[in-house]
Parts: sequence; C-alpha cells; structure tokens
Amino acid sequence: MTDEKYDLFVIGAGSGGVRAARIAAGYGAKVGIAEGRDMGGTCVNRGCVPKKLLVYSSKMPREFEDAKAFGWTQSGAVHFQWPDLIRNKDREIARLNKIYDDLLGKAGVTVIRGYARFTSAQEIEIEGQKIKADKFLIAVGGHPHKPDIPGSEHMITSDEAFHLPALPENIVIIGGGYIAVEFAGIFKGMGSHVTLINRGKSLLRPFDEYLRENLAAEMGKQGMSLHYNCEPVKIEKKSDGFHLHTSQNTVLVCDAVMAATGRTPNTETLGLQAAGIVTGSAGKIKTDKENRTNIAHIYALGDVANDHNLTPVAIEEGHALADRLFGGKPDRYIDYDTIPTAIFSRPPIGTVGMSEAQARETGATLEIYESAFRPMKNTMSGRDEKSYLKLIVDKNSRRVLGAHMLGEDAPEIIQAIGIVLKMKGTKEDFDRTIGIHPTAAEEFVTMRTPRV
Ligand code: NDP
Repeated sequence: MTDEKYDLFVIGAGSGGVRAARIAAGYGAKVGIAEGRDMGGTCVNRGCVPKKLLVYSSKMPREFEDAKAFGWTQSGAVHFQWPDLIRNKDREIARLNKIYDDLLGKAGVTVIRGYARFTSAQEIEIEGQKIKADKFLIAVGGHPHKPDIPGSEHMITSDEAFHLPALPENIVIIGGGYIAVEFAGIFKGMGSHVTLINRGKSLLRPFDEYLRENLAAEMGKQGMSLHYNCEPVKIEKKSDGFHLHTSQNTVLVCDAVMAATGRTPNTETLGLQAAGIVTGSAGKIKTDKENRTNIAHIYALGDVANDHNLTPVAIEEGHALADRLFGGKPDRYIDYDTIPTAIFSRPPIGTVGMSEAQARETGATLEIYESAFRPMKNTMSGRDEKSYLKLIVDKNSRRVLGAHMLGEDAPEIIQAIGIVLKMKGTKEDFDRTIGIHPTAAEEFVTMRTPRV
C-alpha cells in the first residue's frame, strides 16, 4: 500500500477533529482524517444530538396534558412507541453523518475509515495502511465510564440508552452529573419510574447551590426518587429484573441500571507509548496552551485533552488550532473564561460565569439577586413547576459575575446572557435594558432587590 504524507493528519472525526480538518484544508493544507466509528463523534451519534431529540420526545406528554387548560381536547388515546422514536432518531443521525462526510469531502479532506494507532512519533497505521504527516492531531474523545463493581456488565451507559429495544419501566441511574439528570428527565418524561442514586450529598456538584437545590426539588415533585450519599455495591440479574445493592443496604429492583458516572478518554489503543506521548490525570493527554502534547508536532484537543467535555469548546479549539497552524493567525486562541453551559434536565438549566460559592472564594463583596416564579403557561395549566433565576454581582465593580437559570428555555436565554458576561456587563447594564413582556427572560432585567 502506498505511503501517504500529509501536512496534518487528524485522528477522530468528532466535533473538534472535523472542524480542525476542514479549516486546515481550507487554508490549502493536505489533510487526512481517520474515523473508526461514526462520522461526527460522540455529540452527533451518542451525545448532544440524540439526547436533545429524546428530550423533545419526553416533553410531549406534558404538552398533551397542559393543552386541556388551553381549550384543546383529543378524542382518542395518545400512545408512545419507543421503537418509532429510536428509528426516527437514527434516521436523523444518519442524515447528519452524511453531512459531515460531505463537508469533509468538499473541503478536500481525505477520509480514511478505521482506527489509527501510532507506530512511532512520525507514523500511524490504519488497518495496515501506514501514514506519515508533518503534524498529527488527536481528537478521539472519550467513552462512558462504569463503576467497577460485581455485576457491572449488567449496566448500560448513555451509549446503550440510545438503542434500548424498549422503554424501561423502572430504571436506576447512577451518578449526579450532566448525563444522570438529563436521562432521569428523559425516562421520567416518557413514563418510566426513575430512581437516581448519587454518591454525593447533592446533584451537579460544581453548579450554583440555588440551581442544584431547586432542580432536586422539581425532580422530586415529578416523582423521581433521589438517593444521596448512596453508592452502587453490586448488581445481580434475577428473574424479576436486576437487583442493585447499595451502600445504604438497600436493594433496588429494576429492569435497567444506567451508569452516568463520567467519561474516560479513548487513548487505550492509540499507541501513545510508541509515540512517546504523556498522559495525565484520568488518562487525559497533557497539552499546553498551543494544544501541543509533549511531542512537538503532535497536538490533542477536545474531550481527550481538555477538562470541559463540551462540543462547542472542542469545535472552537479545532478551529483556532487550524487558524494558528495554517491560517497565518498566530494569536488566535480560545477564551476559556465564562463558557456558558446547559443541562437539558427537567426543567433545564442554563448557566454562565461563577457560582455564588466560587464568587465568594474570590473575596469580592457580592450582591445576590434571586427570583422564583411560576411561568405564565403553568399558572393557566395548573402545573406546579417554577422557574428560578439568579444573578451574582460584584458590589464594587458592579460586574455581573454569574447568571444562572433553572426553568423552561433556560439554555436559550443563558446563551444570550453569555454575551453580556463576555462583554464584562454590569448590573446597571441589565437594569437599563427594557424587558420583553411577557417572558421569563425579562426577570433578568427587572430584579431590583438583592437577597444579600
Ligand atoms: P459528570 O462528571 O458530570 O458526573 C459524574 C457523576 O458520577 C458525578 O455525580 C460523580 O460523583 C459520579 N461518579 C463518578 N464516579 C462514580 C462512581 N465510581 N460511583 C458512583 N458515582 C460516581 O459526568 P457525566 O457522565 O454526567 O458527563 C460527562 C461529561 O459530559 C460532563 O462533564 C459534561 O461536560 C459532558 N456532557 C455535557 C452535556 C451538556 O453540555 N448538556 C450533556 C451530557 C454530558 P462526584 O460528583 O462525587 O464526583
């Protein structure tokens, strides 16, 4: 087989790798990319995209329920078919896979299907094909991690949750992070009985307390069963389902156990040792500000290297790297400050900037504004779900240090507020902005009395 030599060879066609490859090729570089699984990586195939499609589906039953208060009734019963949802979701993802393929093709990137492995710092091998490049980029992402307990082979993870043959009637979710609360909301919305066990004393450890407490309260109101300071001990498969034994000496019987306990970088089969690449904590590849590993011409970005594990961060890292390496933009770096993020829980969270606890650690004197209210739609439907907004303000500089929301449309609203924080906006900037009435978002510009 012919040896190829590229200017840049990217390993992994996920969010970060595809962006870096396309942009570099656009600058005229000879670029190749290897992908052993599905085009688009975790986000498109086993993450953000299918998750959001399932979230949409899980919200439909309450729309049917709430519709009555707005004058709508239906004559026949409404039925949910999980296989229809999964089939339609898969069709949508296949469409996106093709778009990724087309984008790379149009950009002139050579796509090689297969898993790549370094044979040395200068060469990789993909299914027997040897490839050399001036620069390599590792953008291979990660995979779900399962707690190492007896019976862990019975656990599913988010990977399998997207392909279950049927909706579980009774599911136990282990973890209290992004994926645990999102899937708890998805399965609950579709009608499963949901139990969540979390080894900590509250959900979503690094997030603002106000969001964490109120999310737990809202999840409880919906009938989800939340257990804290509770760890899985072992799982047994019995005739009536799986028996999950916990550290609290309880046994939870269910038809699915899902681990949502973090993700591990996909570095095991990459041949990092052959290339001399050093990994750090939890197997992540160590990189510097340039996204450079300890080997000068090998770069890494996205979930395999950074601590953010967010698609838009990986995309931006890939774009900036290609700009610096091939676009004549040596000063193009990504700004990791105030990255907005969302959790598509039930209700969803949008958050940007510091939590109150983080802001207090800076020593600044703070003003804290909070607001909890029942959104207009819920007053008419009678649904007992509130929205919660919070602003954290530096009392002296007046800068808004953090903006947090739990409630319908929070991710959409916080995306825009992220711009204000990026521009170092002050509380007075919020105050002199006229609200849009009637919306939930207007509350952000009408909060006048601080809690403290
Ligand atoms: P997270 O790191 O968010 O949460 C992991 C949870 O599992 C924590 O509650 C952690 O507890 C717990 N845990 C870890 N190990 C064990 C164990 N051995 N036994 C019991 N509990 C354990 O990871 P996720 O898997 O939820 O998500 C992975 C990443 O994916 C996130 O960091 C996020 O960046 C990204 N993601 C982003 C989404 C979005 O943007 N909407 C959606 C989904 C994922 P403790 O807190 O005590 O460590």
